[in-house]
Amino acid sequence: MSSIQRPGYSATAHPAAPTRRAPVQRRHVAQWLVLALMLGLFYGVPWLRWHDAPLLLFDIEARRIHFFGLGLRTDAIVPLLWLALAGLAALCLVTSLYGRLWCAYACPQTVLTRLHRAVRRLTTLNGRAGGRTEPVLRHALWAAVSLWTGITFVGYFSPIGGLVGGLPAFELGGWKVFWIAFYALATWANVLFLHEQVCTYLCPYGRVQPWLTDAFTPSIHYDARRGEPRGARAAGGGSVMQRARGLLDPVTARDYVFRAAHPASAGPRPTFSDAHLGDCTDCDACVRACPIGLDIRNGRNDSCIECNACTDACDDTMARNGFPAGLILRTSIARIEQRPPATFRARPLLFGALTALFLVLAITGLLAAS
Ligand code: SF4
Ligand code: SF4
Repeated sequence: MSSIQRPGYSATAHPAAPTRRAPVQRRHVAQWLVLALMLGLFYGVPWLRWHDAPLLLFDIEARRIHFFGLGLRTDAIVPLLWLALAGLAALCLVTSLYGRLWCAYACPQTVLTRLHRAVRRLTTLNGRAGGRTEPVLRHALWAAVSLWTGITFVGYFSPIGGLVGGLPAFELGGWKVFWIAFYALATWANVLFLHEQVCTYLCPYGRVQPWLTDAFTPSIHYDARRGEPRGARAAGGGSVMQRARGLLDPVTARDYVFRAAHPASAGPRPTFSDAHLGDCTDCDACVRACPIGLDIRNGRNDSCIECNACTDACDDTMARNGFPAGLILRTSIARIEQRPPATFRARPLLFGALTALFLVLAITGLLAAS
């Protein structure tokens, strides 16, 4: 390859590059809608009633379970355990079919972390304001959210009206105060200090991903055929989709990825003329955006929570360079390798069957116990 270096240019600051941003994606709207739904359900359900009884309450003191109109004794917990298992199997089914949508949209860790970032954007007026009072305001707001989360959590085990009414006069019993304080503190510290580290190091769902997914399950991928070889270049050269170079063959693309990911064993990377470069400008925006600290260009990683932050960052780079979006995209390995659709997939079938079985057991048990 020829080696034309253009030291005056960098991937993030092309002098003549257009400055437009990638259009707002439908998934941003979906993420906020799901966030509102999850928060609304969690904070709202303890207040809802059905035929003059709580909609959902595991009343520890009265030893009664109110479950969507059914009044159960606490010893009827077995059908509820079947129901929980049905939910777990359904989550596995959705994961095997569509990837980690739960992590990207609905997991409480994701929702609360996203909510905390929204609080920070609010108190800093989206990065435009700051000052000494900003951290105080931010921490006060987050402490209030955490306290309300603790109260709401205990509200699933003791009528929430009594909890809220007893707070001002300090009339709550010891276990209620303990668990409110525990969950408030856990919410506060978890989001402030751990955030996505929970996904990487603590969450069991994250650890079992290889058993839930197959080559046909969509996840976040870097399109190495289009992106490699990566490198900074002069503005205005156009995407590989617009110039003669086109897409690489998969073996060459993988070779470039390996060389970039393992410089110690592969040796120094060659430099390429602008005409040979792929669409990755090597700006590292995707790496900086990743809350886990992954470089998605190195290949799929089981720690990836499919949050799409790298996709958004890369789409912005593509837009600034006048390239089409989608260098980092949601697709499956089978689609990348252009395999024909599968007629039989063991995991979805297994998880579908388990979901149905647990649901039948739960419904039968709930009807018998009511
Ligand atoms: S930023 Fe990209 S690589 Fe990182 S967790 Fe999110 S989707 Fe995965
Ligand atoms: S994949 Fe996209 S965001 Fe990441 S370095 Fe390449 S151009 Fe930049």
